Amino acid sequence: MNLARVPADFCYPDGMISVDQARAFILDRARVVSETEVVDVAASLGRVLADAHDSPIDVPGYANSAMDGYAVRSADVAEKGEARLKITLRITAGVTGGSIGAGEAARIFTGAPVPDGADAVVMQERCQVDGDHVVIPGPLKAGENIRPKGNDILAGREVLPRGLRMRPQEMGLAASVGLARLSVFRKLKVAMFSTGDELVKPGEPLPAGKIYNSNRYTMTGLLSALGCEILDMGLVEDTLDATRAAFTEAAGRADVIVTSGGVSVGEEDHVRDAVEATGHIELWRVAVKPGKPLAYGRIGEADFLGLPGNPVSTLVTFCLFVRPFLLKRQGATEVLPKPYPVVAAFEWRKAGKRREFARARLSREEGQAPKAEIFPKQGSDVLTSTVWAEGVVEIPEGNEVKPGDTILYYPFSDLLY
Ligand code: AMP
Ligand code: MG
Repeated sequence: MNLARVPADFCYPDGMISVDQARAFILDRARVVSETEVVDVAASLGRVLADAHDSPIDVPGYANSAMDGYAVRSADVAEKGEARLKITLRITAGVTGGSIGAGEAARIFTGAPVPDGADAVVMQERCQVDGDHVVIPGPLKAGENIRPKGNDILAGREVLPRGLRMRPQEMGLAASVGLARLSVFRKLKVAMFSTGDELVKPGEPLPAGKIYNSNRYTMTGLLSALGCEILDMGLVEDTLDATRAAFTEAAGRADVIVTSGGVSVGEEDHVRDAVEATGHIELWRVAVKPGKPLAYGRIGEADFLGLPGNPVSTLVTFCLFVRPFLLKRQGATEVLPKPYPVVAAFEWRKAGKRREFARARLSREEGQAPKAEIFPKQGSDVLTSTVWAEGVVEIPEGNEVKPGDTILYYPFSDLLY
């Protein structure tokens, strides 16, 4: 059975908005940074390309051997039986080709240019050398073990589109067409702080009633993985004045402000009021679990994204909303995670009003679709669930899940980097 999702324009009676609506709203406000800079290809990992690049050359630029062996004329080798050919050339990688005539063969090495006249390469394991001759068994197909000119890339083809986030393979590809430097969007400056008078810095003693500040470190990891320049403002006291001062400072120094905690409606929650005092809130309360009190706003030229304080909520809402926002803001075109269907190996009895993202792991058996199991404790305070998990499964609003149901799975590898 496929689980139904609420339509994107669904209205919640209590003022919450759906995950899809919230994400579309936030993405709509993500202005791509206008400044670019030029970096060496070697320093381009994770950067977003500000220009598209066409290849100026064919890769490879010449037909070359895919093997160590002998380059021959396929017509010289009989359909059945074998041919005895004279070795007249030796071609190593990095030299230019030469040519062979009828009855001749060239010793050749991987990557070396195929000589004129040759149309096949026979791997050395199949050849028998006899003095200055080589004995080659048939049959042989024209083109065998030859990588034609332009096999990988034809000159003029677009190889790197604008908006692409560089991975190791694109770094290699850029180099393979001769690019040494790339124009990329400048890094985003992201200010972050945590709120909560109960929080203590790791490394310090833990007084009664206090907990260690974990979100600061989760957020540092998340922002670093996205290549942001972090302005770490530490911990801000739970007062309106301190919170307001923190926002004023952050807005003057960063493109985006990300906070954790203090964004609900409790008397000790000052984030919303502080943003309203210095800028404005445009979105608040998303029908997502973990993570309802998520906020988006603007303070001057800076965007504000307020994450809930519960550690699992901080992580999950960052992945679902902040990551796509920051990627788009950095100029990337592919910003949404791509879930895929898996089979539930668990039961979910309580059909909630909000869309839920349960911490999950996949198990795979030969010849079967992957099955998702979930961590037994799904509380938004249970950070170990996120360490146990390899990703999250999506439980659509108003649905129960039975073992065997098809659900969507998002691997952390797609959500965190
Ligand atoms: P809040 O959103 O401020 O109401 O916080 C919700 C819950 O998350 C409370 O139990 C807080 O103690 C906890 N919490 C808030 N901020 C952090 C943080 N930086 N690290 C760990 N736990 C936090
Ligand atoms: Mg708090």
